[in-house]
Amino acid sequence: MTSTLALADEITVALPELKLLIANRWVASESGKTFTTINPSTGEEICQVAEADAADVERAVRAARSAFEHGPWRSMRASERGRLLHRLADLIESNVDQLARLESLDNGKPVSVAKAVDVAKTVACYRYFAGWADKVHGKTIPIDGDFLCYTRHEPMGVVGQIIPWNFPMLMMAWKLAPALATGNTVVLKPAEQTPLTALRIGELILEAGFPEGVVNVLPGFGPTAGAAIASHMDVDKVAFTGSTEVGHLIMEAAAKSNLKQVTLELGGKSPNIIFEDVDLDEAVEGAHMGLFSNQGQSCCAGSRVFVEETIYEQFVERSIARASKRVVGDPFDPRTELGPLVDQTQFDRVTGYIESGHREGATLACGGKRIGNRGYFIQPTVFADVQDDMQIAREEIFGPIMSVISFKSLDEVIARANRTKYGLAAAVWTRDIKKALAVANGVRAGTVWVNCYNVMDTRSPFGGYKQSGIGRELGEYGLQQYTQVKAVIAKL
Ligand code: NAP
Ligand code: MG
Repeated sequence: MTSTLALADEITVALPELKLLIANRWVASESGKTFTTINPSTGEEICQVAEADAADVERAVRAARSAFEHGPWRSMRASERGRLLHRLADLIESNVDQLARLESLDNGKPVSVAKAVDVAKTVACYRYFAGWADKVHGKTIPIDGDFLCYTRHEPMGVVGQIIPWNFPMLMMAWKLAPALATGNTVVLKPAEQTPLTALRIGELILEAGFPEGVVNVLPGFGPTAGAAIASHMDVDKVAFTGSTEVGHLIMEAAAKSNLKQVTLELGGKSPNIIFEDVDLDEAVEGAHMGLFSNQGQSCCAGSRVFVEETIYEQFVERSIARASKRVVGDPFDPRTELGPLVDQTQFDRVTGYIESGHREGATLACGGKRIGNRGYFIQPTVFADVQDDMQIAREEIFGPIMSVISFKSLDEVIARANRTKYGLAAAVWTRDIKKALAVANGVRAGTVWVNCYNVMDTRSPFGGYKQSGIGRELGEYGLQQYTQVKAVIAKL
């Protein structure tokens, strides 16, 4: 660790190494360039971080290739890989306060949430995949003739991973844990907005004792470092989480280079469908948490709240009351529920959508304004009388903006819920099991929640239909994305 930063009263946070991690060494970028990571609560610089670009990707891929082909990683027992992942999980757990503070400082999320959600789920993810390391195996298949046919589930090789800024440490875990459990080596690029926890996890990876070159961490920008990973001829697979727009670029780069395998976890515009027979307070609270948690910067945010017309007015009224009560403020204050957005770009994008809602005739039921004059704080905002064709109902906003839309019938709402290019998640609230299952079956989305929202677990697969992605992360399904199957046929 290089230095310590004093924050508000009595809060300090130790900064990690601010360089690139290549072949188990902390190094400057070849260009010598650095970039600024800022504190979204103030807009001020936290520190400078080494900026990787194509030349550094080249070095890191070479290190990862060498670790894959020649290093101890290849010959290591699967159970030993699991043990290393367990050790990493233990180290993360014993650094929970520092990691939560770093995440909160860099991303703006409340530190209480960073601790209870981001760090806790990160630890759970590494532990879960640690358990899989020695349980990934093939089949014996009775083919015709006098042969022994069996399959082996082998690692892909060198895996490139590009992650976003909304759950930095957790997205790193979703990517790294299954890749390492199955014996791959990794070159990972954190988002430019939030490099700090990735660097701290890099330190813990070294402390845990992972062999040289197995994990390489390259802070830097998408169009340079990210694009170099996606188009690299010696990267066997690329896994990406972020916008659908960049997802297209990643796939194009893979197609134009070496046809590397691609998994994508992209945007969403998830419908949250509420029928009139619900416990209204429970549904209001569920919809509120489904949208406003993580400042609305969540790929599965329930940003299209469809409410049956008979309870529409009541629902809007109670949603306004709930949103107006949400505590916005300093992420280091334990009472804070909503911190700032991640950066100026995101702030401008979200305020642009608020203007667009106005312009297209939605009713601004509450919020809609900036809070304070520094940092990127926006009031929790609810739009009522939203129509399907409005921009705020069609495009991913990624901010604390709820759109409440009225519907009349089951079939109608399923059809409208599906009228989107996205298909990441959906939810339905009702006491009627038939309606619940009709929605669960009818909505084209990778996850459907019934009478709950945002319930995520490392054991359950997560990913998108349509332009929300390709492949699944987490659970046994997520594991499959990091191995390929070899058939061995031996004459007897
Ligand atoms: P983004 O551009 O898709 O960023 C995600 C990651 O991809 C970052 O590490 C980014 O690098 C990298 N990247 C960007 N361009 C790239 C390229 N040409 N080749 C390879 N990698 C590239 O997302 P954003 O600009 O931060 O956010 C824009 C919108 O995306 C948000 O408003 C939201 O709607 C959506 N989003 C979705 C998720 C999700 O969880 N599905 C997460 C974040 C954002 P940089 O560090 O340079 O950005
Ligand atoms: Mg930052």
